[in-house]
Amino acid sequence: MKTTNNINGIPLHYARLTNHPYGTRGQQRNFSVDETFFATIEKAFKEVFEKCPLGTPEIITTAGIFVDKPGQHGHGRAFDLDAIFWNDESLVTLNFTHQKELYLGIESFLRKHFGLVLNHFYPNHEDHWHLDTNVPVDFNESSQSETFYVQMVLKYLYGEEILVDGLWGPQTKRMVKTVFEKLQIPTPITTKNNYLEFLDLTGKIAFELCKRKNTPLHLIDNLTEVLEGLPLQSRNSVLEALNSFIDHEETASWLNGFTGHSENDVNTIIASVIA
Ligand SMILES: [Zn+2]
Repeated sequence: MKTTNNINGIPLHYARLTNHPYGTRGQQRNFSVDETFFATIEKAFKEVFEKCPLGTPEIITTAGIFVDKPGQHGHGRAFDLDAIFWNDESLVTLNFTHQKELYLGIESFLRKHFGLVLNHFYPNHEDHWHLDTNVPVDFNESSQSETFYVQMVLKYLYGEEILVDGLWGPQTKRMVKTVFEKLQIPTPITTKNNYLEFLDLTGKIAFELCKRKNTPLHLIDNLTEVLEGLPLQSRNSVLEALNSFIDHEETASWLNGFTGHSENDVNTIIASVIA
């Protein structure tokens, strides 16, 4: 075990306290971590931030590495990633709904290094990624967490109409085949090299979408989606207010100016990434 308060020089913070609540930048702390596992963390984050269009962040918040409980945390071999803060941007894992491209880009590269990644859709993990190396990096159809990831990228990045339920079935299998063909990757996904290539290309495509989709129209879609997740009682009045704003003659004509950007189309991005 070693003690650290940073990853590759990026300060490691804790933000799960009354005066430093979840979602804030928190406070720098020392964390105990297994040395071999820490080497994987450093390698993984180096790749994530080299590929990420936002570059190297200022702060990473973690809910913990070594935690006195059974499982990999008890050996300092698991990492709970809460949020990442850049100069004027952040990714808080709880905010998946309106940061899907950035979230899935980061997760794609993390998966190249950690065999077990539990994400936003996995029970009890909506507010952090759990990362550990207790299982090898590969794809198993029986893995709920890996199937969640594949279904999420199929739906939110590749635009496939798919049910995200964590269960591998004929629909998921068929759509994986379609997308692998578009990406010119051989199937099956269970062959390690095919899976790694899929993770790498999907990460790049997610980050490219993240750059191009930062338009007012997309941000309004995100806002609508977040509102639709609110409890019924508060949802309708806020949605009505938003819709009257969107439907206003001047707003509508301003928003119309943002449509028709075919370069945002995922197929165009796929073509440029695999070229
Ligand atoms: Zn954990």
